[in-house]
Amino acid sequence: MIPGSFNYHSPATVEEAVGLLANLGEDARPLAGGHSLLPMMKLRLAPLEHLVDLGQIAALKGINHEDGALVVGAMTTQADLLASDLIAGHCPIIQETAAQIADPQVRYLGTLGGNVANGDPANDMPAVMQCLDASYVLTGGGGTREVKARDFYEGAFFTKLVDGEILTAVRIPIPAAGHGYAYEKLKRKIGDYATAAAGVVLTLSGGTCKTASIALTNLGETPLLAAEAAAALVGTSVDQAVGLAEGITAPASDGRGPADYRTKMGGVMVRRALERALARAAG
Ligand SMILES: Cc1cc2nc3c(=O)[nH]c(=O)nc-3n(C[C@H](O)[C@H](O)[C@H](O)COP(=O)(O)OP(=O)(O)OC[C@H]3O[C@@H](n4cnc5c(N)ncnc54)[C@H](O)[C@@H]3O)c2cc1C
Repeated sequence: MIPGSFNYHSPATVEEAVGLLANLGEDARPLAGGHSLLPMMKLRLAPLEHLVDLGQIAALKGINHEDGALVVGAMTTQADLLASDLIAGHCPIIQETAAQIADPQVRYLGTLGGNVANGDPANDMPAVMQCLDASYVLTGGGGTREVKARDFYEGAFFTKLVDGEILTAVRIPIPAAGHGYAYEKLKRKIGDYATAAAGVVLTLSGGTCKTASIALTNLGETPLLAAEAAAALVGTSVDQAVGLAEGITAPASDGRGPADYRTKMGGVMVRRALERALARAAG
């Protein structure tokens, strides 16, 4: 299939992009790497009259260290994340996750902003951003606001983004030095979306878990923060955390397997991620 015809706009600044989206109304959509949007347009699932390409806006690219956080521009690609020393040094779970997204061709164009703004429960970065307690910087006609990744997702393809707003950056608090981390993803084949996946970030003190966050991909309508499972891990057991994480899932039965199987695989991913994160953590 080829997409229907559309008008192409290429603004040079965020202000210009926001102005275009406001003027063009609901028939316009931001275009980032195009690796989720264009397939939907080709399937005629997203008929749009106007695409506002964010690719020429220099202010949306790059990774900076600011006040104890990494601030990643929305148009930073998965390949940029994989090549970044700042990400490797401070937040390696992002690289472990980016390496499991699709294939190199997709990672060269697909952006962090597009991955988290898309609202597809199968995207990998949203759960990791929930684990890291990241915030999304959103700019629209009414100004700029920040929304936590943990509050951003409302349903499949429904987020807190309002019409005319652009996600300009992701602000990621740098986890404590010596933290343990892992992103475990079960997929049918290389390059596939997750059947079930789990991210874990934790810290140890005297061999006991001091802080933990766990989040799940493609096991419900949105990424799922497994807060009770993480709380169960602090000072207690991996088994209890796995059971609690399985308990919050509600996956669809689909080509990736029946719902019961996917819930169990979610538990297996949590267990593997926890074991790897615990082995990596200092203290
Ligand atoms: C073969 C294949 C395999 C894939 N496998 C995986 C996988 O395993 N895991 C995974 O996570 N993803 C996967 N993807 C999706 C890929 O990661 C996409 O690149 C990503 O989902 C969207 O990023 P993008 O930059 O391409 O955004 P686009 O496709 O350009 O945009 C996606 C949506 O987000 C909106 N949007 C984009 N940027 C912004 C912004 N800054 N502000 C507001 N709205 C914005 C767009 O309007 C659109 O609605 C796969 C894609 C393909 C083609």
